[in-house]
Amino acid sequence: MVVGRFLAASAWPAAFRTPAGRGGDSAMHALLVYPEFPDTFWSFKHALRFVRKQSSTPPLGLLTVAAMLPPAWDLRLVDTNVQALTDADLAWADCVLVSAMAVQRPSVDRIVARCRDAGRTVIAGGPLFTAQPEQFGAVDHLVLNEAELTLPAFLRDFAAGRAQRIYRSAEFADLTRTPIPRWDLVRLSRYASMPLQYSRGCPFDCDFCDVTAQLGHRPRIKAAGQVIAELDRLYDLGWRGGVFFVDDNLIGNKRNVKRELLPALIEWRRGRRGLSFGTQASINLADDAALMDLMTRAGFDTVFVGIETPSAGALAECSKKQNLNRDLVADTRRLQRAGLQVQGGFILGFDSDSEAAPQRLADFIQKSGIVMAMVGLLQALPGTRLHERMRKAGRLVVGGSGDNVDGTTNIVPLAGGDGLREAYRDLLGRLYAPKAYYRRVRALLREYRPPRIKGRIDPGYLRQQALACARSVLRLGIAGRERVEYWKLIAWTIVRRPRLLPMAVTLAIYGYHFRMITELHIA
Ligand code: SF4
Repeated sequence: MVVGRFLAASAWPAAFRTPAGRGGDSAMHALLVYPEFPDTFWSFKHALRFVRKQSSTPPLGLLTVAAMLPPAWDLRLVDTNVQALTDADLAWADCVLVSAMAVQRPSVDRIVARCRDAGRTVIAGGPLFTAQPEQFGAVDHLVLNEAELTLPAFLRDFAAGRAQRIYRSAEFADLTRTPIPRWDLVRLSRYASMPLQYSRGCPFDCDFCDVTAQLGHRPRIKAAGQVIAELDRLYDLGWRGGVFFVDDNLIGNKRNVKRELLPALIEWRRGRRGLSFGTQASINLADDAALMDLMTRAGFDTVFVGIETPSAGALAECSKKQNLNRDLVADTRRLQRAGLQVQGGFILGFDSDSEAAPQRLADFIQKSGIVMAMVGLLQALPGTRLHERMRKAGRLVVGGSGDNVDGTTNIVPLAGGDGLREAYRDLLGRLYAPKAYYRRVRALLREYRPPRIKGRIDPGYLRQQALACARSVLRLGIAGRERVEYWKLIAWTIVRRPRLLPMAVTLAIYGYHFRMITELHIA
């Protein structure tokens, strides 16, 4: 195994064992820093308070990179979403490794500036830096694309004292060589769920998508045994909550998912407590009853689907062919009835969108019972076909937040930019107003058939849910603007779907988060 051989401690030249500024045989001090996420729909910050968690998930990329660093290095990880980066941390470090997505850009700039002031070497990688390396002149070393390919070369050169500024690769990594993330570097109890990755790449070709731009169309997968080993590690560390498979499309390689991954997960669950799974998948999941059945038996209860728009014209415009010629409401209901709660991604602002598009989108979302609807304005991310198309048409504006649900866009609309932003704000305000939101929750609960997941529920997890429920009574049922809708939902659920009461309370809490984000940052 190339990575393992490369990381063998005995292979490291003296420069690693006696880093500059340190005497004797002291190990290199590497500080891994994860920049802060802004307060957006995706942060779930206002919902996390109910379960006393500080962030949704720990930084999977950095934890995986940590597992690829030389065993002799001394590592410390600071996730600025859950703890402050202190001057003492920077004083301890010989070098600082930063990984980030576009949405974390403001925090990245602050962290890099602090590292420069402290005279620390900054090494950066991840989607933000890979998409636009020319924007990071203050970073010492850019280790781009997939770390499995570029990190070994950087480490070799760094050890020899001749590290270059940029490391890239035009190839795609073999995930069967990806190590188990270093979960031991974070305090798991600070997070609401754990991330895990089975595959990278997606066979589809949506023109706004930066996943395929960076990770390709051929889904590359881990062996099922690797996934089980990662779950074992999390379980051994005491984790009993949710696990989110961060694959951009878990079913990109359906054959292996059905034959290897899901049977292995079903087997793994036997006799274990807790752990429910969520993931992202394309809408064609709804065509495959056997696959949905395997997924729910394996423990999946939630799936995020990029639905984008009910407009055939807009779907054709962005080459989202897999969503065309379908009844997307019927597909959503099939998923819900199979035991998969559907969360949906939606986009407003296609060239072909008419004035009626926002209302059509609102009607679709209400009818489908997609409670968590992530609606954003179309953005052209660097490296995508859409970005190139807009650049050629002279319709790009500098910047772009990278947050696809904050109501901003870097595309000059064909007409009426202010009208589009206004329509977006109005749409979000209506979708997350208590009456409409709670109506969607009831629509979902009516359709949803909860899977009978094998495995006992963990008592600690149950206690956490009970406390969240009590806090929801106080904050939503007594003090909240949504209190009438809250109690109507509780009463309706007790009478009609009593088994789904915990789900109803959880969705009420999420509704509070979405309403807060809408009121604070969008409306
Ligand atoms: S289905 Fe999702 S991951 Fe695949 S290309 Fe389209 S947007 Fe990207």
